[in-house]
Amino acid sequence: MRALKAANFCIYCGGMPERLTDEHVFPYALGGELVVPKSSCPKCAEKTSRLELFVLRRMFGKARAKLQMRSRRPDKRPKEHSITLIMADGSEIDRLVSIDDYPFHFTCPIYSPARALRGLLPNEGQVRKIGIWSTCDEDQVHRLRLRYGAADVSLHMTDLNSTVLCRFLAKIAHSYAFATEVQDYIPLTREFILGLDIDPNFLVGCEDAFKIVPTSDDGLFLRTWISRSHYPGFVVAFIQFFPSRDAPVYHVLVGMMHPSTGRHSG
Ligand SMILES: [Zn+2]
Repeated sequence: MRALKAANFCIYCGGMPERLTDEHVFPYALGGELVVPKSSCPKCAEKTSRLELFVLRRMFGKARAKLQMRSRRPDKRPKEHSITLIMADGSEIDRLVSIDDYPFHFTCPIYSPARALRGLLPNEGQVRKIGIWSTCDEDQVHRLRLRYGAADVSLHMTDLNSTVLCRFLAKIAHSYAFATEVQDYIPLTREFILGLDIDPNFLVGCEDAFKIVPTSDDGLFLRTWISRSHYPGFVVAFIQFFPSRDAPVYHVLVGMMHPSTGRHSG
């Protein structure tokens, strides 16, 4: 665990209560080692841990268990998961299989690049373009097919909640930017992390517009990207879960450079 200098204030709401908790930048359960001591008030900690719990358990739970990633409550992990066998005659049979036999699979939402980086306002409409990215260990699926004589095997989707995931990505990005002491920017994500109801794709998106590959081991890296078209430039964080599986790279627009320090590259 790598602890940095204590913040001594809440990095989310700016409050300075007596009791401040330590913040894991990248979740402990996903291998995060970076900690900012005394950087969250109890109220904000409750909000951010609710996001973390949902993402780690409901969205990433099966994938984490399969990869044997660490857990604070390993005894609470399910020992079996259900699958649906699709037989040659079209009938379907639900069956429980052990974690060992259950194939690795991981599904997550993908987005267009953050609207703010494209010079667009938040989309107020109900229709949001969200894609799905999915990966699965085909060999393990094939083995199950053979074992049960099934034509196909259907793995049950995990819970996808796009807004929760985007808030969680924003939380990681915001604390990472703080931890790495990027200077002189105006933070943009705090209200969204704490629950502001705004288009998640305004500040969070996927990397296809940038072609940036995270390089650090924990799948998180931050760089300051000076926008060519939008003065005075933005601080953008890039985040990838399960880098060994080539999962999508998300980006979060963490902040805007102060006009006095942002370099305008034209
Ligand atoms: Zn707070």
